[in-house]
Amino acid sequence: MVINKKLILKTPVSKLFMVGPIYVKRLKKLDIESVEDFFYHFPHRYEDYSMISKINRVQVGEIVTIQGKIQSIKNEYTKRGKHLQKAIIEDKTGFLEAIWFNQPFLAQTLKNGTSVNLSGKTSWFGRKMVLVSPEYEIISPPKRLIHTGRLVPIYPETYGVSSKWLRSRIYPLLSKYSHLLKDWLPEKIKTKYYLQNLEKAVNTIHFPANKALAKQAKERLAFEEMFLIHLTSLLRKKEWQKKNLNHQLFINQEKILEFIGNLPFKLTKAQNRCIKEILSDLSNNQPMNRLLEGDVGSGKTVVAAAAMYAAFLNNLPSVLMAPTEILANQHYQTIKTLFKPYGLKIEIITGSHKPQATSHKSHIDIFIGTHALIYKHAKFDDLGLVVIDEQHRFGVKQRNKLIEKGKAPHILTMTATPIPRTVALTLYGDLDLSVIDEMPPGKVKVKTWVVPPKKRQAGYRWIEKQINNHQVQAFIVCPLIEESEKETMKDIKAATAEYERLKNVFPNLKLGLLHGRLKSKEKEQAIEKLRNGTLDVLVSTPVIEVGIDLPRATIMIIEGAERFGLAQLHQLRGRVGRRNLPSYCFLFTTSHSSKISKRLGYLEKTNIGMKLAEYDLKLRGPGELLGTQQHGFPDLRVASFTDIALIKKTRKAAKKIIDELEKFPALKKKLRRYTIKAN
Ligand code: ADP
Ligand code: MG
Repeated sequence: MVINKKLILKTPVSKLFMVGPIYVKRLKKLDIESVEDFFYHFPHRYEDYSMISKINRVQVGEIVTIQGKIQSIKNEYTKRGKHLQKAIIEDKTGFLEAIWFNQPFLAQTLKNGTSVNLSGKTSWFGRKMVLVSPEYEIISPPKRLIHTGRLVPIYPETYGVSSKWLRSRIYPLLSKYSHLLKDWLPEKIKTKYYLQNLEKAVNTIHFPANKALAKQAKERLAFEEMFLIHLTSLLRKKEWQKKNLNHQLFINQEKILEFIGNLPFKLTKAQNRCIKEILSDLSNNQPMNRLLEGDVGSGKTVVAAAAMYAAFLNNLPSVLMAPTEILANQHYQTIKTLFKPYGLKIEIITGSHKPQATSHKSHIDIFIGTHALIYKHAKFDDLGLVVIDEQHRFGVKQRNKLIEKGKAPHILTMTATPIPRTVALTLYGDLDLSVIDEMPPGKVKVKTWVVPPKKRQAGYRWIEKQINNHQVQAFIVCPLIEESEKETMKDIKAATAEYERLKNVFPNLKLGLLHGRLKSKEKEQAIEKLRNGTLDVLVSTPVIEVGIDLPRATIMIIEGAERFGLAQLHQLRGRVGRRNLPSYCFLFTTSHSSKISKRLGYLEKTNIGMKLAEYDLKLRGPGELLGTQQHGFPDLRVASFTDIALIKKTRKAAKKIIDELEKFPALKKKLRRYTIKAN
């Protein structure tokens, strides 16, 4: 293998003689762009081929490695037109046949007489015991084994890039250049937590001699991964604490209690606790940066309203940013009603409601609008408080936009995403966290069923009857077809096709269609038609508003439910059951897998978002908390958000070192590069 002499870790893969231009593109899909990226492309598991066996000892069903000489090899066609390769391998104790499928080039590679290792599983083929599609590795002249006869790394792959291909590149690179890996973890941390040095860990995770060693290497690499995440969020927190507050607030307890006392309902304990936490932040001379987390319907709006009222009592305006126009409108109505008795001036800024002249602005107490428009029209240095209703998108970047020249307003971010505490602590360690972990009393449970294909028709008839007999309405949510945060044309086509199909399923009902490409007027019209009862059923793509509040909508149907995360399904389900009418959620699935019906079945049993999130976190990892990439969670390579011990340990280590980063230039450099990559 020829390798460029002047190679450094940052050398792009295109400069490697063993990687051609087609592969550069393919590797990019795996995020491998440099030599170092190869090193950090860790195997997700190992195939254990370490048992080396004599041929006469091999049993059927065993995973083994045999060593011998190719005695013959030939290509054959089966009756069904499959291309088959058959080889006989021989050692001192006997013969064994190996077969492969559709790899005609093998006859060139494994010529008669070649000394070879074959690793794989034996099974019956007709009446003979054979090795089926074994890995092979030519062993003369002798060399270190990387594909057979050991723990063999299996990597995340992509089209045209197999684990074998990766092994053949990573191994020589490691042998020659892994010494270039600078260990940036401070010595004292490695000593304290019994961590290997970087070079050893990276070599071992790719080609471990045994499982115990692989585990040690993983421990080191998982540590550094989680440690970096903590350090990043702690750094963000430090940066934030350096900001000067726009305006300090005086908290008028009495007036705020009066506002709370005049609400048409009694606040839950959790709401009261969150308000207290927020007011305490507001009275500080440091800008607040708090995340308010609460299930759909837990009553976050009124908590935010209490905070905005506190700003108003200081003669300072607030803004409330919603993710969509429909939700901005909804907030506008709610906030107007809440503050009617107190004479606040509230203005909405959306595509269809542009703000008045600038001179007017100073008289406004609360601006409500979509993110984009508020950024355009509001002046942030005047503000007492910024409330961001994110629903399910998180934006560090968004928050950063609010900060100008070292000055910042108080910021309250609201989310309905149940982020397990461990995850929140890691990823949002820079935010303080308030959780509304209790629902207002008297809320109905949304009765939930998983509906397999054969019960679909019966489901439709039941729904139709409910709609006709009780004058209720239904949402039908189609899955996102493509993996992307935003709705794509394909998703819209799918929803449109489903809408047409459902017109035939429900010929006597009035159906509407809602998706992201409609004009905002059209969207509002669709919602309005539901509100006034002109529509019975609204078919939509899933990106449509989570927080929508329609009194008579009591039935939620989710198509392709298996494609969503549980927490996401739960949020969708939260669009119904908002009043005290009996409410229902149907999870339609086309899958017959028992694993999937078990996972979905969990939604039948529990209606606590956080529990569902934790369950899904265990089952599928944090990337799946919200289904398709809507989360902004980093993909972890080695560490896991379910490893609470690791999270605690790394957080402690990070907290300890954050104030003395200057002493550790290598760590500082690594962190800088890491932060750039992460943002
Ligand atoms: P979310 O947290 O999803 O934003 P909202 O703030 O929209 O929830 O509240 C959902 C509904 O519950 C609203 O109609 C609101 O008026 C009502 N609500 C909020 N708090 C309480 C409470 N303590 N008791 C009864 N109803 C409440
Ligand atoms: Mg809300």
